[in-house]
Amino acid sequence: MKLAGRVAIITGASKGIGRAVALAMASEGAGVIALGNTDVAGAEDVARRIVEGGGQALAMKADVRNADEIQAVLRAALERFGSVDILVNNAGITRDNFIFRMTEDEWLEVMDVNLKGAFLTTKIIGHQMFRQRAGRIINISSVVGLRGNPGQANYSSSKAGIIGLTKTAAREFAGRGVTVNAIAPGFIATQMTERLPEASKTALLSLVPLGRPGTPEEVARVAVFLASDDASYITGQVICVDGGMTM
Ligand code: NAP
Repeated sequence: MKLAGRVAIITGASKGIGRAVALAMASEGAGVIALGNTDVAGAEDVARRIVEGGGQALAMKADVRNADEIQAVLRAALERFGSVDILVNNAGITRDNFIFRMTEDEWLEVMDVNLKGAFLTTKIIGHQMFRQRAGRIINISSVVGLRGNPGQANYSSSKAGIIGLTKTAAREFAGRGVTVNAIAPGFIATQMTERLPEASKTALLSLVPLGRPGTPEEVARVAVFLASDDASYITGQVICVDGGMTM
């Protein structure tokens, strides 16, 4: 098992990619703190499945915009497991609109969750890893942070920001044995993409050389790799999991 004895905090683990990451890390032996925000039942379901499978897990509510709630997660993780070895910054939202129609609220809401949220967890939980002189931070960016996307100025800017945060944290934390990497998924079948109009889905799919959407599990396997000893010499990188969309 690649993550035996490690402890992983995963934001947005109530569904989609975060849920798949939580289950994949647990199946490799990690103790998991699965975080949900509005859907705490979803996070509890993930934790229950892990425990039923013989693993260790805890579910909590945490809004990544709220530093007090993240501090509470860190305290609970340390009380239950004694350390935090892996942080997956996965929580994310979309509020799509063309730039001329995008409201300031739509801009700020996406920035707050997707970028400020990852900053706060990196600051609070990354500090614990700094003290432990070991840790892995995995940020979920997006291919649109690299290539842009009409209707997603807020979202693609937040995901490009995640890449800046990843590279800066990788440089700041490297001396303490903490690696920081990003995954840039392409078109992955989750509730987030299910909501897209059919025409947008068809247009997105036409950009994917492998000709199909990815699964949350295909992203999760890369997160497991980055958290494992196999990735010990990798930091500050962005790995696209996109069926060839970005090449
Ligand atoms: P999803 O199914 O919509 O799940 C989003 C998750 O984020 C949920 O667990 C949600 O928690 C959580 N979340 C939202 N706002 C939050 C907040 N304020 N505080 C804490 N958690 C919050 O989305 P997904 O497709 O799995 O996406 C996961 C990540 O991958 C996101 O960062 C997304 O941008 C990125 N991504 C997705 C795709 C794709 O094609 N699906 C592509 C590229 C990147 P609750 O439901 O409990 O509120």
